Amino acid sequence: MALAAPGVRQLHPYLPGKPVSELEREYGVSNIIKLASNENPLGPSPLALKVMRGELDELALYPDGGGFALKETLAQFHRLAAEQITLGNGSNDVLVLMAEAFLRPGLEAVYSQYCFAVYPIAVEATGATARVAPALTATAQQPLGHDLAAISALVGANTRIVFIANPNNPTGTWLEADTLHAFIAALPPHVLVVVDEAYHEYAISLGVPDASVWLDEFPNLVVMRTFSKAYGLAGIRVGYSLSSADIAGILNRIRQPFNVNSLALAGAQAALSDQAYIRRCVALNQAGVSQLRNGLHALGIETGPTAANFLLADMAQPAGPLDEALLRRGIIVRPVGNYGLPQHLRITVGTNEQNKAFLNALQEIMNDGQFESA
Ligand code: PMP
Repeated sequence: MALAAPGVRQLHPYLPGKPVSELEREYGVSNIIKLASNENPLGPSPLALKVMRGELDELALYPDGGGFALKETLAQFHRLAAEQITLGNGSNDVLVLMAEAFLRPGLEAVYSQYCFAVYPIAVEATGATARVAPALTATAQQPLGHDLAAISALVGANTRIVFIANPNNPTGTWLEADTLHAFIAALPPHVLVVVDEAYHEYAISLGVPDASVWLDEFPNLVVMRTFSKAYGLAGIRVGYSLSSADIAGILNRIRQPFNVNSLALAGAQAALSDQAYIRRCVALNQAGVSQLRNGLHALGIETGPTAANFLLADMAQPAGPLDEALLRRGIIVRPVGNYGLPQHLRITVGTNEQNKAFLNALQEIMNDGQFESA
């Protein structure tokens, strides 16, 4: 479509995990287990659900466009000022706002190979140039993870944003505090660094840093968080960034006036107050990671380390047919060919029963003779 802006014309759209309803429709299967989008298998805190039900009577009214109450709660939670917070319709919204606010044709953004698929879309849509740093090798300690030296080597006079996911999706890999801190400290002041901590709640207990504690030190730092993962609220779409008040002021200038809906504002605030629930979810996740890793290893399938709620499994053969066979058994995982990893599957950690069902289905498929055991 020649009328579209040049950056937009060449974009490949984001490929989401297959929705349950689509699999039901297309394959006629039921009792579907979705381990494809890094959602929390326990859902949100019951407290958040209760508060959101109470909001239903108010849906004729626009939400509070400034998100005052949620921002105040988040400010206390993070020990920052409310002026440092930008709310979004998912953290995806704030990632796009960053690109819109700071990129344009002639400027550049840097990210790693195998990074979260929204970074290329957000950057390319602005007409800016994406510089993609080669990832660490498959045999590195953090296989296919971010190579900070390779990223630094691509930073130049025209760079305005560097995107770092910690931990990273789809690899599950992470960066240690000292290394990441030194990397940010060495960036020139004209480069903003987005540290995307979508999986922070899962990662923190493994020693993965909370970059928001460095905000006073680095005026060019922007930290992303979301309620879509450990908080179990992916469906209501709410995320946010923590940054200097100057950067938040810019983002707030271009966001839609009501970009976070009233259910999301109320639900997120209630969810944040139930940290005991998050601790339970994180514990279940850790048990699930071990269960899946052990089960996959027993089938001869390699997985890298993970600090998140998913595992990247090297199926050692084209993953498409395996994915298809799992779909026929009502199990949705995530093929990552669009990330340049055609032999891998990304598997979200489910409940004990869901993980078991996935492992059993995979074993059945591999025993079936059509597929080589890995
Ligand atoms: N960042 C990363 C690294 C993610 O994996 C995701 C979700 N897949 C997001 C951001 C966006 O999440 P949301 O828009 O739901 O907050």
